[in-house]
Amino acid sequence: MIADIQFNNTFSSLPETFYKKVKPTPVKSPSIIILNTRLCEELNLQSEKLFTEQGTNLLSGNYIPKDASPISMAYGGHQFGHWVPQLGDGRAILLGEINNKNDTKYDFQLKGSGITPYSRNGDGRSALGPVIREYLVSESMHYLNIPSTRSLSIVETGEYVMRDRILPGGILTRIAKSHIRVGTFQYFFAKNDLVSLKILKDYTINRYYQKEIFGDKTSLNLLKLISEKQAKLIALWQSIGFIHGVMNTDNTSIIGDTIDYGPCAFMDNYDPSTCFSSIDQNKRYAYKNQPKVAQWNLAMLANSILPLIAEEMGSEAKAIKDAENIIYDFENIYKSYYYNIFRNKIGLTKKKEEDISIINELLEIMYDEKLDFTSTFRNLSLLLSKNKEINKQNINLTNTKFRDWVLKWKKRLTFEDLNIQKIITSLNKSNPSLIPRNHIIENIIEEASFNNNYEPLKTYEKFIHKPYDDKNIPIEFITPPRVINKNYKTFCGT
Ligand code: AMP
Ligand code: MG
Repeated sequence: MIADIQFNNTFSSLPETFYKKVKPTPVKSPSIIILNTRLCEELNLQSEKLFTEQGTNLLSGNYIPKDASPISMAYGGHQFGHWVPQLGDGRAILLGEINNKNDTKYDFQLKGSGITPYSRNGDGRSALGPVIREYLVSESMHYLNIPSTRSLSIVETGEYVMRDRILPGGILTRIAKSHIRVGTFQYFFAKNDLVSLKILKDYTINRYYQKEIFGDKTSLNLLKLISEKQAKLIALWQSIGFIHGVMNTDNTSIIGDTIDYGPCAFMDNYDPSTCFSSIDQNKRYAYKNQPKVAQWNLAMLANSILPLIAEEMGSEAKAIKDAENIIYDFENIYKSYYYNIFRNKIGLTKKKEEDISIINELLEIMYDEKLDFTSTFRNLSLLLSKNKEINKQNINLTNTKFRDWVLKWKKRLTFEDLNIQKIITSLNKSNPSLIPRNHIIENIIEEASFNNNYEPLKTYEKFIHKPYDDKNIPIEFITPPRVINKNYKTFCGT
């Protein structure tokens, strides 16, 4: 039976300053819409057992296994630059941690499972639409090799939630190595609770950074490692045109995973100022601002753990200087990841000085010509292919600037050691053909929410684990929208 799921409770064994004990509020008539059988396998969960009545009850919060220890986690955060001392899981409940096949612990969390002590004015629930978005985008991110929280299941609750209109309710089971955020550190720092702050730092290191941190100056080391992970993450996001949309410090993971998929969306045509979120009036979280925002968020983390760094170094002045250096270094580390990833996206493995201008020139042409980000990169390999028919169909070579760029690029490729076939293979491994495009996701959500039709969701879900394999993906999922919706807006999903 399901009761065999072995829950560990390392987080809920921490002092009670870290969370509040709370049980999910049962829902009326839950049904599983999607169960992620691949993830079940990775987690040693038997999907046939989760498809039972008891399994459905578990994934909807109606049944709590006896060794689970349900809690909502405490955190604060800067939302759009404004400090909010008390946020916390307002609609999420952690049941405990389960081990995957490699014995790594993963948090098992229900999202949309009812009111918690941190709900403030919210209802603790989630509409089905945002649950579907988080499931599809987070799983896509995983298979696009971008660190991310995972999604195990989508449950329809059989109840309705009130938003700008009445919508069907949903519960997501989120699986994540960590739910600790920059805002968790800020929470204790703001309360001047240095005892909890230190416990949080030790827990973070023991659970996530044990192999990487040595010596006694662990807090400074931790800041450096988190900063590197964030730098890589942001470069990876940009490499697939991903815009997170709500990069508040409470949505910034301390292990460098993508977390919280509220108003996230993907760029179709390349435009660095793209920002979809309806509430982000000043475009704070636009595509191009993401590195600067991540750096700012890390500065907030540095500020919060400064007392620990100072204690370990025996000098506040030295702590400030070293922490500042880490924050300044972020920019170079990010840039180095960014250009290395984009080098791979144009088939380069060696480093040459001219590469940066080759990459930037392509991006400029893409911006000027309003070219689709994903398919332009994906189609680069076709320019090396002998099949002229394919060339004509997919790439517009009438643009002189683009034609000149292609010549320059091909010349640069001759300095690579790989033969053309190998470059084509490597290009196709670096440039996905399938990303969860906004118009596709919106249609799936609309059909599920308003027509009770889950077929588009189930059909699409079958393809997200092979985003580089265009041969088997239906063409409508990989082609850009015929008309770009310039007014496309996303919402936080609360
Ligand atoms: P987010 O914008 O999703 O990162 O959420 C920001 C804060 O609002 C977090 O503390 C959430 O737990 C809380 N929150 C979001 N939606 C709800 C809801 N429907 N009910 C209660 N709290 C919520
Ligand atoms: Mg959040």
